[in-house]
Amino acid sequence: MRSSGLRYAFHQVHTPEEGTMPRTLTKSRYLDGLRCPKLLWTRWNRPEAVPRPGEDRRPIIEAGRAVEQLARRIFPGAVEVPRFDNADEAVAATTHLLPRRVPLLEAAFSVAGRHCRVDVLLPAADEHWDLIEIKAGGKVRENHIRDLAFQYDTIIRAGLEIDRVHVVHLNSSYVRHGEIDITQLFTRVDVTDRVVRLAAYTDRTIQAMQELVAEGDPDTPIGSRCNVPHPCPLKPVCWGDLPANNVTLLHHGGRRIWELMDSGIFTMDQAPDDRLSKRQRIQKQTLATDKPHVDSDALRHWLDELVYPVYHLDFETMAPAMPAFDGVHPYQQIPFQYSLHIQHAPGAEPEHHEFLATEPGDPRPALTEALLADAGTEGTVLAWNMAFEKLVIEELAEADLVRAPRLMEVAKRLVDLITPFNAFMVHHPDQGGSCSLKAVLPAVTDLGYDDLNITAGAAATHSYERAMFGGIEPEERSRILSDLRAYCGRDTEAMIAILAWLYGTV
Ligand code: SF4
Repeated sequence: MRSSGLRYAFHQVHTPEEGTMPRTLTKSRYLDGLRCPKLLWTRWNRPEAVPRPGEDRRPIIEAGRAVEQLARRIFPGAVEVPRFDNADEAVAATTHLLPRRVPLLEAAFSVAGRHCRVDVLLPAADEHWDLIEIKAGGKVRENHIRDLAFQYDTIIRAGLEIDRVHVVHLNSSYVRHGEIDITQLFTRVDVTDRVVRLAAYTDRTIQAMQELVAEGDPDTPIGSRCNVPHPCPLKPVCWGDLPANNVTLLHHGGRRIWELMDSGIFTMDQAPDDRLSKRQRIQKQTLATDKPHVDSDALRHWLDELVYPVYHLDFETMAPAMPAFDGVHPYQQIPFQYSLHIQHAPGAEPEHHEFLATEPGDPRPALTEALLADAGTEGTVLAWNMAFEKLVIEELAEADLVRAPRLMEVAKRLVDLITPFNAFMVHHPDQGGSCSLKAVLPAVTDLGYDDLNITAGAAATHSYERAMFGGIEPEERSRILSDLRAYCGRDTEAMIAILAWLYGTV
């Protein structure tokens, strides 16, 4: 085997079957191709091999659609080109509508083996047009420019003149007061120069992609692209044969992972110490000995700083793209639930308090009142990755000036239970290099989430939104609320179990 062969050896070689190739390259496939040749090739030639987006991606996709629908109202009098099964019919409908010189939604263009639909095409001076892309995020990203360069190049090759290119995205500093003001909710950014510059290279790139999909399955090495901007759907295939304790599991591995793989080093035991950070060497050592690393002095000092009663706190939140309540900005975290376990002494039987908003409407006033009643006035408030809990409490304080001082007192008592793990006071070989709660919990306790119906924060949010706003049957709603209580409660039970493990380890 070549020294770096393993990194390339995870891919089967396939040849496209006759008649299976779609006719045109869409902007989604173009973006796939920019990310990874193998991803483009597989989507093009073997689309059935690419898993559909998981449940965790669904809320993001749905939010994007909802934002797009709302943003369209900025363009009064716009006419939508209908959806057809056949792209040619959409192109014909667009050609028919263009002479009317009205704003067009979803205008369709096909040229030179590619096809795109455009969010908004606005009439400009001298029979020209402005090209507009609507995005649900709060800023312009590089991928938006690439996407627009594809559209721009396709449209001008179809014979239209484009004046300006804009991205319309959510204005993160907009704060809702009363009805949503869509003229303030969205920001329009002129990206013409960036798009035109990039579009100069687009045709050459597209030609290379068209050649690539007509050939065999490319042997693309795995790399950082597999996780950016989100985990690639083909990861289970491409990463599936990596050996146990491989270097992708290195704590904060970053570029080092791929440098090691490129020099033929695939497992942590093969990695020379001088190519690892201090913490990665500790991780390697724990794997070699199959024993946790414990810095007893540092851990004892950290535990001694805890003030009892200790409150184990965890919030569940939703962050709607469009502010649902007064005083809220786009994507603001709105807590709808917390679990709070209180221990009056190390190892003591915990007392459980919880809050779950069960009526539609702003959950924050009732949650704030319950939290202040439950969280007491002294004692450590433990959270896992406390920056999030701190942000939630600070935003609750901003929304409730009367209770703000008491809320900020709770925030001041926060201590992060992740610290002993993040600072490598302790490290367990089964953490897989991660300090997330989901990685640490099964490594150091018998607890997990497998017995629950909700097993992750994103699913909790999605389930809650369904229960509150999804118009579902009462039985289904009550089942979801009960699942949510179990999930959030497990998070704080997990913290109790981890704290007990830390006491037992020191
Ligand atoms: S997992 Fe990585 S190598 Fe495989 S298709 Fe996706 S981006 Fe490409």
